[in-house]
Amino acid sequence: MPANPGAPEIASYAIAAALDPEARRLEAVQRLTYHNAYSRPINELVLHLYLNAFRSLDTVFMEESGGALRGYEFTPENAGWIEVTSITLAGEPLELELLEDGTLASARLPQPVAPGEALVVDMTFTAQLPQVFARTGWALDEQGDPFFLVAQWFPKAGVWTDEGWVADVFHGNAEFFADFGSYQVTLTLPEGWAHGATGIPAEAGPAEQPEGWQTVTYLAAGVIDFAWVTSPNLQSAVRDAGGVELRYLYLPEHDWTVERILPAVESSLERFSAWFGAYPYPRLTIVDVPEEGSGAGGMEYPTFITVGGGYGSPDGDLGGWGDFMEIVAVHETAHQWWQSMVATNEAREPWLDEGFADYATVRFMIDRYGLDSESGFFEGRRNAFLRAPDVPMLGPAWEFSYGEYVAAAYAKPIMALLTLERQVGEETMLRILRAYFERYRFAQPTTADFRAVAEEVSGQPLDWFFDGLVTGEETINYTVRQVGQDTVVVEREGDLELPVEVAVTLSGGGAEDGEALAVCPGPGEEAVCTLRYPGKTVQSVTLDPERKLLIETDWEDNTWP
Ligand SMILES: [Zn+2]
Repeated sequence: MPANPGAPEIASYAIAAALDPEARRLEAVQRLTYHNAYSRPINELVLHLYLNAFRSLDTVFMEESGGALRGYEFTPENAGWIEVTSITLAGEPLELELLEDGTLASARLPQPVAPGEALVVDMTFTAQLPQVFARTGWALDEQGDPFFLVAQWFPKAGVWTDEGWVADVFHGNAEFFADFGSYQVTLTLPEGWAHGATGIPAEAGPAEQPEGWQTVTYLAAGVIDFAWVTSPNLQSAVRDAGGVELRYLYLPEHDWTVERILPAVESSLERFSAWFGAYPYPRLTIVDVPEEGSGAGGMEYPTFITVGGGYGSPDGDLGGWGDFMEIVAVHETAHQWWQSMVATNEAREPWLDEGFADYATVRFMIDRYGLDSESGFFEGRRNAFLRAPDVPMLGPAWEFSYGEYVAAAYAKPIMALLTLERQVGEETMLRILRAYFERYRFAQPTTADFRAVAEEVSGQPLDWFFDGLVTGEETINYTVRQVGQDTVVVEREGDLELPVEVAVTLSGGGAEDGEALAVCPGPGEEAVCTLRYPGKTVQSVTLDPERKLLIETDWEDNTWP
């Protein structure tokens, strides 16, 4: 087992799975060891059976998503499902009952598991992989050969807490939530097929196999999930990134991506390590996906991310952040910090992983490519924010429409966190993020935990951010209301109380012409602020000249004339 980077051992899995590539099916045995780290005894085991979301059009996931995710559609004739065919505790069978739409199941335990003790359950299961449209399943590559990206594929424990099990039905917008643990996963695959997975391969030689098959074992410690990939055609490109092995698995039709993906991941890994804290695992696997399997691309798993040549083009470049592929690679790399190590509940508080990953991405892209922060990808996100600027960032994924979800979880957090950064200063912002990462890596913090760190490290109450933007519906826009010969009237629209800088150029009146910088509204003033320059003539006015209020809803009305 690779060294545990310091995570608790709560939910650990030993799985042996054999892939039937024709039937697109897995037959597997699994031992789950679940540690009760809380003060209440565990009376029942709750498991996620995520693949059952793809069983038919009647599941919660399908009803909420309309059978599509990010534009990729479900194919009912190539559905997916999972069936637990046996489950035992110390050799005694348990009765597993499907809950809700079958994406959850529970089993009563004959004896409660006391705090500090562990539950060890053995299972066998069959997993039918769907044709991929939502992260997991199979697709054909350009040569017509199958490609498998296998995720959300095994019976997975919910998260036990003092309030009981935290485990939600698989919702359309929602991602995941899990405990840390170790994984030993042995895969039986067709001989000669390339493969990759969370963690690193075991050193021990492969067991004897019937002709035509290979057995590989992957080991991972201190992770919250396990995903893997296999295909006859994947190629690999490897590079060392400061002691971390970057392993890019790509399809021949996307060989042009190698020289773009590896540098993007390498430099963002290096930058995020410096900004937030070290990446502590020995390897990061990056996976390309076939065009027809694009629904598997752009996803994060611990030490394993998916990208996809379909997000870019050979002659695409980053001018104006025009090519999405590198942005996806950087975003998924950022999730190693904000999801894989700081393991927030992606379903109930999605802004904490998606928003932080997107904010880190924008920071990185500005830093590396020196691009105008108002172009390309950023502009797309800003438009998504402007479609729902008052939607609170905090909320469970399933309570948002898809458009609101993109605004709340991705787009608004970019604007809000960049605004926070420019209010407290970049150096303080990085101290906040480093402290939050140090305190909560290998833990499951909430929005309240982030607030406590942010206020403690910045030394100031951040009501405007948390009450106004995270849980509230406040918005802000400054406008140049009126300009007279020697006066400027600036007005704030919206409830969010943040001041704005006002740059005014002046002429005349005997004294030298020049620039005056004021802050509106001044102390004691309400939303309207009148600036007076006796004896001068106002030539021009610019609100927020350094663009500190990324959260402002209208930038068109910030200048006069
Ligand atoms: Zn993401």
